[in-house]
Amino acid sequence: MENTSVKKFPIGGTHLPEEKGLTTHEPIVTMSVPQEVSIPLKQHLGVPVEPAVAVGDRVKKGQVIGEKAQGLRSIVHASVSGEVTAIGEAPLPDGTTVTAISIRSDQDAGDQEIFLDPINLEGLAEEEFREVVIRRVEEAGIVGLGGATFPTHIKLATKDPIDTVIVNGAECEPYITVDDRLMQERAADVFRGLEIVRRAVGAKQGFVACEVNKPDALKRLREVARDFPHIAAQALDTRYPHGAEKHLIKAVLNREVPLRSLPGSVGVLVNNVQTVCAIADALDKGKVLHERVVTVSGHGVKDPKNLSIPLGTSIKDAIAFCGGESQPDPAVIVGGPMTGMRVEDFSIPVTKATSGIVLLTEDEYAGSIHMACIRCGKCVEVCPMYLPPNRMTSYINNDMLEEAVGAGLDACILCGACQFVCPSKRPLLEWIKQGKALAAAQKKR
Ligand code: SF4
Ligand code: SF4
Repeated sequence: MENTSVKKFPIGGTHLPEEKGLTTHEPIVTMSVPQEVSIPLKQHLGVPVEPAVAVGDRVKKGQVIGEKAQGLRSIVHASVSGEVTAIGEAPLPDGTTVTAISIRSDQDAGDQEIFLDPINLEGLAEEEFREVVIRRVEEAGIVGLGGATFPTHIKLATKDPIDTVIVNGAECEPYITVDDRLMQERAADVFRGLEIVRRAVGAKQGFVACEVNKPDALKRLREVARDFPHIAAQALDTRYPHGAEKHLIKAVLNREVPLRSLPGSVGVLVNNVQTVCAIADALDKGKVLHERVVTVSGHGVKDPKNLSIPLGTSIKDAIAFCGGESQPDPAVIVGGPMTGMRVEDFSIPVTKATSGIVLLTEDEYAGSIHMACIRCGKCVEVCPMYLPPNRMTSYINNDMLEEAVGAGLDACILCGACQFVCPSKRPLLEWIKQGKALAAAQKKR
């Protein structure tokens, strides 16, 4: 579908320094097979799966290594061929640990990959199409690869009447260029994956939404859109946080998702760019999800890249593949600098949730020194959820959790825009996260 309009959400948000130039022209390269991977059995929103292999087993890339669980789960596959050396714990960016399977790789066995049978969807009736797609997406272990990691087979099985599917290519976090590169290099697969999802959920239309700060990606999307009568490329103004689902839907369709509701409540399903590529690969090639594209960037790394990395690879190995640190002790952020987490333990593995590894020099990193609030109101101006971050955080820091909730703590989408604009460098996002965790713990009691 032809579409040359440029849209945006109406109120709040901010412009960020992008720093995407470090990697926007770097083609995706496949990382060499690491000596060892540590693959978490929970890389999805839900409960961990149980190991399907034992120490000493030999496994092949693509083989199921974790499957069963009581509750929301997503299958986990081996990302390298080799020998299972341990079933232990792996650290995660939030400071917790998770059960993980360690595999010592046969480094010369890259071609020993297990594929499922490709599926020909031509001629399948509506209901059968939907069932086949959902089953395959589940078998392939696909989850939301934008960071949310909600199991995609559950999302596709929605009972909500869906009329529109949006692929979220806003990628508004500074430094990160994963979706940008995928839209440049694999635009046809992005549309193919979206078309599969659109048919599976019975939607009449689809959009691939992309901010105008990715002109090469947008050009490719518009070219490919000519071959897809129900799907258009939708350009978005460059504004943070366009990638937040509710803001994306408001911008593209002018629909408001009510507080505490999901996009399905307004007839919309949102998928990430890499997720729909994985769906196309799973159906057309029988490929399961055992690797993902990650941007390794920042002025603290020697050779920034967009890397296709086997899941379970340590961030240390990924950084080493990019030439290592460009100066001593950069701040290492897993995720983007707005919503990611600073980590000190570099044995943390890359998971389905990892979109970026960003190494910031001291100058780039906002640091932990902050000053008193000068009541400038900038945080209130930029908040895309119309919240008072200054007041909310003051309540949180004074143990007035009820008042913080009353000021809208639940509605905060953790975009970090308030923290970014604060001239006193107050760590508003960190405080809000702490407040949310405390409020959640209180609810459980
Ligand atoms: S209060 Fe929450 S939603 Fe508002 S700007 Fe801050 S982090 Fe974003
Ligand atoms: S932006 Fe910072 S200094 Fe300004 S009102 Fe908000 S918290 Fe206070």
